[in-house]
Amino acid sequence: MKLVFIGPPGVGKGTYATIISEKLGIPKISTGDMCRDEAKSGSELGKKIEEFMKRGELVSDEIILEIFKKRIKQPDYHKGFILDGIPRNLEQVKTLEKITNIDLVVNFILPEDVIIEKIAARRTCKNCGEIYNVAHIKRGDIDMPPLLPEKEGVCDKCGGELYQRKDDNPETVKNRLAVYKEETKPLVDYYREKGLLMDFHVNSSPDKVVPKVIELIEKRVSSHG
Ligand code: ADP
Ligand code: ZN
Repeated sequence: MKLVFIGPPGVGKGTYATIISEKLGIPKISTGDMCRDEAKSGSELGKKIEEFMKRGELVSDEIILEIFKKRIKQPDYHKGFILDGIPRNLEQVKTLEKITNIDLVVNFILPEDVIIEKIAARRTCKNCGEIYNVAHIKRGDIDMPPLLPEKEGVCDKCGGELYQRKDDNPETVKNRLAVYKEETKPLVDYYREKGLLMDFHVNSSPDKVVPKVIELIEKRVSSHG
């Protein structure tokens, strides 16, 4: 199954992609994780990437596509995949179309005020990228309880240190949301017109969201052959 997860920053797509990729037995390919890993390595490329990320801007297509193409040379990619964070603009869509077809694009939707609150409360594992959240967000029919580690500041999965991503500060978040609207949101219409889009309104925690998303994905993909 070849899936794309799309949505504004902080909607939770990275978390859903991690769990769903394990359940479906297909790799998650997250360009955000790959960018953070490269930045952490301290390489020349990593330094360039960090400059973009710090400002909440998109990393240049040239760099992203180079990293992405390297990743999909690995053999696990042929079983299918979940793309998390790519494509992010129409240029990347076109490149992706030259490489592979896509079965379904899941569009995760959450109101902007909730997103801002959620990102401010996000904590990320420095080592494995696992995501936690320290806030309990309740608004209208949205109820998202906190996702806390068993031990404060320590990742349950790998024991790594939890931190707040540099680009998770209010100023950068504003910019990331603007970039999303300008560059990535047009892909929603693009994929909708192609009949590949499935909207999903997020309103609760991953343990409730994930089974629903999987059910909908399987229904959609099987009905399309
Ligand atoms: P979020 O969805 O919360 O913004 P990501 O982890 O997907 O976070 O991305 C973090 C940053 O990594 C982006 O702001 C951008 O700088 C960079 N990035 C990730 N994927 C891409 C991409 N496909 N094209 C350009 N930049 C990217
Ligand atoms: Zn971890």
